[in-house]
Parts: sequence; C-alpha cells; structure tokens
Amino acid sequence: MSEVRNCRKCGKIFTYLGGGPICPSCKQADEEDFKRVRDYLYDHPGSSLNQVSLELDISVEKIKRFLKDGRLEITDEEGNMFLECESCGKSIKSGRYCVNCERDLASNLKSTASQMKSVLDSVSESAGKAIEMRYLNKEDQKKI
Ligand SMILES: [Zn+2]
Ligand SMILES: [Zn+2]
Repeated sequence: MSEVRNCRKCGKIFTYLGGGPICPSCKQADEEDFKRVRDYLYDHPGSSLNQVSLELDISVEKIKRFLKDGRLEITDEEGNMFLECESCGKSIKSGRYCVNCERDLASNLKSTASQMKSVLDSVSESAGKAIEMRYLNKEDQKKI
C-alpha cells in the first residue's frame, strides 16, 4: 500500500509518505543544514549569502532554497536581497512574492492566496494533511 520512490538526491529507494522527493535520511541532512544556516544567521546577523555558504560549506543554491521556502530570512542592513519576486522581479528577502504582489494576489484571488499563505506558514503541517488525505483516499477506494 505504500508508494516507493527513488530519492532525487542520493538515488536510494524509499517509501514515499507525501513529503518531498528526497528520502528521509537526505531530508534529515537537509534539516541539519537548515538549522546550521538558521543558527549561523542568528549569531551573525547581516551575513551575506556567500559568507554563509563558505562558512558552513553549504551550497548557495541550497541556502536560496531555504529562503524560498520562506523558512529563513537574511536580514541584511545594506538591503542586499537574494531572491526575486516571481511576479514582478523585485528583490525580496524570503518567500516567493514581494509585499505588493502578495497584496495584489490576495485581492485578486482571496481564497487561493490564503491557501498559499497557510502552505507557506507551515510546510510540515500541510505535509501532514497531505498524508492524511492520501490515507483517506485509499480507504475510500477499498470500500468501493
Ligand atoms: Zn536520499
Ligand atoms: Zn512583486
């Protein structure tokens, strides 16, 4: 009943539980990296992306991904920002859209924006919901 996938990172086969496309051990390593970046930024506020990458030996791409997930924010006093708004291209610190576009999206598509927001608010929580739904669907299928 469980779905098996190849880890996109290490290629190992693992049981897919509705999380990302990587296996639990890679996810664990990712989580460790995330914590290291977070702690480093906490101790060294205003660090540049390259500095964090060099100090922690974590790729810039990976740190950018953490930023994109909206879980991290690099607060640079000089205003250096590393991400671009996916809608207008303006520099932003975290997430996918700048404040203006987020507001536009919210007024245009109120329900979608709030859904997106709740996804951004808690990635792990939504993963939990996806798992529940998956199991529920499986149960339904059995009954039919
Ligand atoms: Zn893996
Ligand atoms: Zn924008």
